[in-house]
Amino acid sequence: MEALPPFDLIRPRTLAQLIDARAAHPASRLLGGGTDLMVNIRRGIVAPPVLIDVNGVDELRTIEADAHALEIGAAATLSEVAAHSGVMQNYPVVAQAAGHIAGPTHRNMGTVGGNIALDTRCIFYNQSEWWRQANHHCLKTTGEICHVAPKSRGVCFATFSGDLAPALLTLDAEIDIAGVSGKRTVPLAELYIGYARQNEPVTVTRGDGKFFLSLQPSEIVTAVRARNSPGLRSAYDKIRIRRSIEYPVTGVAVALRRDGDILADLRVAFTGTNPRPVRLAGTDKLCGGPLDAPVFAGLDALVRDQIMAMKTTFTPGHYRRRVAGVLARRLVQRLFEGG
Ligand SMILES: Cc1cc2nc3c(=O)[nH]c(=O)nc-3n(C[C@H](O)[C@H](O)[C@H](O)COP(=O)(O)OP(=O)(O)OC[C@H]3O[C@@H](n4cnc5c(N)ncnc54)[C@H](O)[C@@H]3O)c2cc1C
Ligand code: SF4
Repeated sequence: MEALPPFDLIRPRTLAQLIDARAAHPASRLLGGGTDLMVNIRRGIVAPPVLIDVNGVDELRTIEADAHALEIGAAATLSEVAAHSGVMQNYPVVAQAAGHIAGPTHRNMGTVGGNIALDTRCIFYNQSEWWRQANHHCLKTTGEICHVAPKSRGVCFATFSGDLAPALLTLDAEIDIAGVSGKRTVPLAELYIGYARQNEPVTVTRGDGKFFLSLQPSEIVTAVRARNSPGLRSAYDKIRIRRSIEYPVTGVAVALRRDGDILADLRVAFTGTNPRPVRLAGTDKLCGGPLDAPVFAGLDALVRDQIMAMKTTFTPGHYRRRVAGVLARRLVQRLFEGG
């Protein structure tokens, strides 16, 4: 394993100091738990001269969750979220997603902000420097071609694999962002711009696996927030190769509301498939009647249409797409039946 290159570490105590440090060091990277970033530094994927640790800023560590609203600071750890009684009780999809991430030691270190801003992944990218050099660097670093889709014309298909985002998307979550030009709150869905399609140019609003976040260079995710919807049932499930410690082959979050025998509301979101977490569009058209075969057929069709798994992991893309559909169907059925 490679040695870490040298870097300076800054440990702000307040949000104002954090923002100032980020502005003073444009080439810096924010350090949450470091469970992904430090791996990438060691592999020579990134080499920031300065790391800014967010963990000393107390105002970023809060978790508030009751029957009305959820607010989680960016420096809260995944273990804290998974074990928080208010989150478990009122927002089970979030607690379950947090509890399914990596292994226990990663969850003790890993933060909500780091998970939301997690880098996209690809078998041609998450490799050592010598491996990438020997196999020719690809678009996501310094190369000129995508090895997954050589005819992609400048588009990278690296896959977003964070587990929290789909869970939060089913709750219509918003994120608070802070930077030198002030604070803003946006729908979480707007953070993710990895809408890559072959032969479509990458733009500032429709990015790819390389440009997958809409954050400005100096901006920081400070918190994530959501409101509760009465009667909403939610859960998270994922398939992974090593069950105890692994990124998702596919992860699915479902939230639904049942009125008697009627499916009144349905929200489904995925990770591990596209360059962004995908909240399925069109599920509202499946609501208003019983949960029957046409609903499941409609759900399958939406998955086929919107889930674009490519050869970015050792598990083939078409298999990941089928797993996504199966997981979604099972979870919808279970939640509808009250499980
Ligand atoms: C073996 C292994 C298995 C894993 N399995 C999973 C898995 O199953 N699911 C999963 O989701 N992840 C997995 N991970 C990745 C990682 O552990 C988690 O995603 C974790 O939540 C990352 O959080 P962190 O605080 O450690 O992020 P860091 O590594 O500290 O940072 C990740 C990125 O986010 C940026 N960042 C950090 N904080 C902020 C902020 N407040 N605002 C803006 N940007 C910020 C960093 O600059 C960096 O680019 C795995 C990692 C390993 C090593
Ligand atoms: S999808 Fe293509 S460009 Fe993106 S990381 Fe993989 S090989 Fe590189």
